[in-house]
Amino acid sequence: MNRVLIIGAGGVGRVVLNKCAQHPEIFEDVVFASRTVSKCEKIVSEIKSFPKPITTEQVDADDVDQLVRLFEKYQPKLVINVALPYQDLTIMEACLKTGVNYLDTANYEHPDIPKFCYAPQWAMHERFKEAGLTALLGCGFDPGMTNIYVAYARKNLFDRIDTVDIIDCNAGDHGYPFATNFNPEINIREVTAKGRYYQQGEWIETEPMEVMRVFDFPEGIGAKDMYLLYHEEMESLTKHFPEIKRMRFWMTFGQSYLMHLRALQNVGMTSVEPILYQGQEIIPLQFLKAVLPDPASLGPRTVGKTCIGIWVDGVKNEQRQFTYIYNICDHQESYRETGAQAVSYTTGVPAALGAKMLMTGQWSGHGVFNVEEFDPDPFMKEIGSWGLPWVVAYPEKAFE
Ligand code: NDP
Repeated sequence: MNRVLIIGAGGVGRVVLNKCAQHPEIFEDVVFASRTVSKCEKIVSEIKSFPKPITTEQVDADDVDQLVRLFEKYQPKLVINVALPYQDLTIMEACLKTGVNYLDTANYEHPDIPKFCYAPQWAMHERFKEAGLTALLGCGFDPGMTNIYVAYARKNLFDRIDTVDIIDCNAGDHGYPFATNFNPEINIREVTAKGRYYQQGEWIETEPMEVMRVFDFPEGIGAKDMYLLYHEEMESLTKHFPEIKRMRFWMTFGQSYLMHLRALQNVGMTSVEPILYQGQEIIPLQFLKAVLPDPASLGPRTVGKTCIGIWVDGVKNEQRQFTYIYNICDHQESYRETGAQAVSYTTGVPAALGAKMLMTGQWSGHGVFNVEEFDPDPFMKEIGSWGLPWVVAYPEKAFE
């Protein structure tokens, strides 16, 4: 039985569930679990197309014993983890204890330390290998699709890649002065951290939002300010493509977002250090999350598009070549199809197709892998029809 278990009933979980439900020939049976089971039930009630009832379950994914009981009860072939990065290790541990394959979209982060890296998950490679299981890490859009774009470019378009710039633009407008398009805690931890990029084997650190460029995005999106950030896919891509001499990550932010973020930072609201408030310990960033709009509620009001891609500078047939591979995704179209805006959509669709690759054996191997370690071709062949078509453009100049 090709049963899949999805954990996390947020915006991304909603999209993964919708996409699995569109493909009952692959996902024969689906279980949907989260900390708050009513959220699972609500999302499931909106799925009309799946031929079998979708089971919902309550689980605290911080608790390995609870996860083990859940996995033993359903014996899924694969667990898709779209809860939070804090749960990666407990879910992987439960997979090892019960003989289940694993997929996620974000690398592990400790709730009290705003720093993420692949080390603790890569350290489980031998254990997954010995157990004859696969763990596929970072199969969202970035990380995920962007890694697969790099692998595809290296395999099919270039003889050598010298530099990669990953460019993430959300040109959507939700009408709020300040809100985040995915989990606010994870998002704010990411953008308030120092910037970092890779050059000639070294990591060069910048102050948060110190380096800015204006980029003219295609298909009517136009010129936007974007800022250099550290992003997790650079860690695995520089490991798996050591020929790459420089890699940077850029994300667009509007002036209103930045102005609010600066003010929140200045007053200490983005801190993860606990403070005492009326005799109770609270974490300012978690409190801020509670007062900000729920990203899942942004779907109906967000208009505009996302444009995420990679700009590659390298060599093909002894000629220098520039290539820009990108996807454009429309917030309202994503919402009409799945009830979630494009940031959740662009994450959930690659996760569901990655799950298909594992379920069908098109991607296989025992151990812990990043997506770029598998053949990009079957994935690229299908991702357009799953909802994320891609464009390959050949700009005439280098990315400055
Ligand atoms: P949300 O916050 O909307 O949803 C997360 C869900 O996980 C919530 O429903 C929450 O349940 C559930 N959850 C949290 N803690 C637990 C727990 N201990 N046990 C069980 N369930 C739990 O986040 P998103 O849907 O926006 O993001 C999901 C994941 O996708 C995150 O890891 C995020 O980092 C990643 N992501 C990856 C991207 C990529 O391109 N690679 C881009 C965007 C996101 P409850 O509501 O009941 O508390």
